[in-house]
Amino acid sequence: MDEILILAETKETQIEKSTHELIQAGRELKSALGGILSCLLLGEGMDGAVKDLEQYPLDRIYLLENPLLKDFSPDLWVSSLEQAVRNLKPKVFIMAHSPTGREVGPRLSARLKSTLTTDCIGLRLDPEDRRIVRVKPIYGGNAVAVLKGKGNPELITLRKNVYSPAAPEGTKTEIIKLQLALSDQVVKVKALRTIFREQVELDKAEVIISGGRGIGAKEDFQLLERLAELINQRGIKALVGCSRPVVDKGWLSSDHQVGLTGTMVAPGLYVAVGISGAIQHLVGMVRSKKIVAINTDPNCNMFKVADYGVIEDYKEILHHLISKLEGLS
Ligand SMILES: Cc1cc2nc3c(=O)[nH]c(=O)nc-3n(C[C@H](O)[C@H](O)[C@H](O)COP(=O)(O)OP(=O)(O)OC[C@H]3O[C@@H](n4cnc5c(N)ncnc54)[C@H](O)[C@@H]3O)c2cc1C
Repeated sequence: MDEILILAETKETQIEKSTHELIQAGRELKSALGGILSCLLLGEGMDGAVKDLEQYPLDRIYLLENPLLKDFSPDLWVSSLEQAVRNLKPKVFIMAHSPTGREVGPRLSARLKSTLTTDCIGLRLDPEDRRIVRVKPIYGGNAVAVLKGKGNPELITLRKNVYSPAAPEGTKTEIIKLQLALSDQVVKVKALRTIFREQVELDKAEVIISGGRGIGAKEDFQLLERLAELINQRGIKALVGCSRPVVDKGWLSSDHQVGLTGTMVAPGLYVAVGISGAIQHLVGMVRSKKIVAINTDPNCNMFKVADYGVIEDYKEILHHLISKLEGLS
């Protein structure tokens, strides 16, 4: 029986949203391929994570708990995944295109002598040869490649925020504990110290106020920050995003960047302020539920994807919005 296996990721033992998206992708593949959909979970103290996963349409959860896997160690993870995949022999192994997936995917591909397609935005089954057709952007997002890979299992990393997270379902999930030979002897590179900087988790925001080159100066992002703050005060998670030139100019850090080489987002509301709407930006935000564009150029591309457009100097509009919201407080 064909098995579709996905790699679960956790943050402080909580399942990441990207894992719920992988479940959805796996579920769609399973409806064409048949077989079973399973999830591989590595770490320590994973009771809460297992409970979370059990709500989703998974046939099996393979659980590998070991104190050595408490923190992410690339060498140990690659060694564990290699053993697990060799034992389980899934037809497809899908990882998120996250730092973890990007680190372990290529190494796993070399060890298993199977081709990996990274950063996919779509997967489907070719009914003729029953291999997975992988769609991924190329040439800076100006084209998409449609590929098939050789080798078993088929290895794939999937871009975040492309599939909607799976909906919970009362499926009966079998939990299978894996026993693998793990030794810290395999660790060649150790993390000595981790310096945390508060990351802007754009993909978790309900509202994104995003600024482009048209903002004009670093200080003027204060207007966007203030608007986001006022929305946050109403209990709605709002964050400031930006286009790439803003990062290149050093006005904001790269975790604010939306787009092909930034974060893919799909918030309830995306406000594009002084952003022209280049394809590399649009691919990152076009799945937002409502898009508002504020731009002085009536012909800019952003208006083509926007639900509402304002042709005006952004300062006028933001000052007006801010004073309206302040008046409501
Ligand atoms: C390989 C590759 C990857 C890339 N990845 C990304 C990516 O991930 N994300 C990304 O954003 N870009 C990316 N880019 C860059 C992308 O091609 C565009 O150059 C970039 O998105 C343009 O940013 P912008 O819209 O802020 O700037 P511009 O195109 O310069 O647009 C500025 C806009 O501001 C408007 N404006 C000016 N003044 C005002 C005002 N006072 N009020 C209102 N509007 C005003 C102008 O009319 C204009 O439409 C990538 C490019 C390449 C080649």
